[in-house]
Amino acid sequence: MLNIDLHCHSTASDGLLPAAEVARRAAANGVDMLALTDHDDLGGLPAARSVADDVGMRFVNGVEISIEWEGLQVHILGLNFDADDEALNAGLASIRSGRVERAQRMSAALDKIGIHGSFDGAMCHAENPNLISRAHFARYLVEIGICKDVRSVFESYIVPGRPGYVDHRWATLEESVRWIVGAGGIASVAHPGRYKLSRSEMRCFLDEFKGLGGRAIEVVSGSHSADNVTVFSRLAREYGFLASCGSDFHGPGESYIDLGKLAPFPQGLAPVWEAF
Ligand code: AMP
Ligand code: MN
Ligand code: MN
Ligand code: MN
Repeated sequence: MLNIDLHCHSTASDGLLPAAEVARRAAANGVDMLALTDHDDLGGLPAARSVADDVGMRFVNGVEISIEWEGLQVHILGLNFDADDEALNAGLASIRSGRVERAQRMSAALDKIGIHGSFDGAMCHAENPNLISRAHFARYLVEIGICKDVRSVFESYIVPGRPGYVDHRWATLEESVRWIVGAGGIASVAHPGRYKLSRSEMRCFLDEFKGLGGRAIEVVSGSHSADNVTVFSRLAREYGFLASCGSDFHGPGESYIDLGKLAPFPQGLAPVWEAF
């Protein structure tokens, strides 16, 4: 059984390790095929690929695109695309350009509840300033002692309904799939178990995704429960989706599971990597 991990992050987005180190760690953990899937940015791919080539690990171009669907923030993975594709790169640049302005609004919102200096503080945690993320704010709030860990910061301050959360216009579902497919890649719904969607809303989302050319769904994820795996295996079969799997590793101590330490891939699914 091959060890396959098609979802993880480096300092090119909100991961804690540089891309080369992510690839080295994956290889050390026994990964046979890795995709680096930074949020909205392809900057880490060359360094990760170079390490993968050196150590004889298969490497697949990846990205995790931030979109908004019916008011909800959703993530769409792009896998095995041409990283030089112009429309994909322009589209990702357009999403990134809104992040700094959103971070300023988050900082202003946190100011109002007495948490000051969070824009500069979060920026100190961001290797790639264009990719300033809620994760960097969370690390800053932990650093100054507001919460004990990143997860508590999200729960108390920066998810919808909490004082540091601000709305933001991401890409649309249609754009994300068009950019990925246009670059020759496969679009996969990232960690579908994480979204606050009812069963009928999830079906509505998957119908639309499939209609637009989406072909895969992430069944095994570091943030999925065993129940999630069962539910999304069933939906993958029903919709005729390919199945992808990934740790969603962000860094030691901050992620549920490490690179390559995924739950088993369920029987009877069509693995996305067979289409690469
Ligand atoms: P952003 O793209 O800036 O909105 O930030 C989203 C990122 O924050 C995700 O990719 C995760 O890395 C992280 N994140 C989101 N929700 C949580 C949570 N509840 N606990 C910890 N990290 C989270
Ligand atoms: Mn992230
Ligand atoms: Mn995600
Ligand atoms: Mn991710």
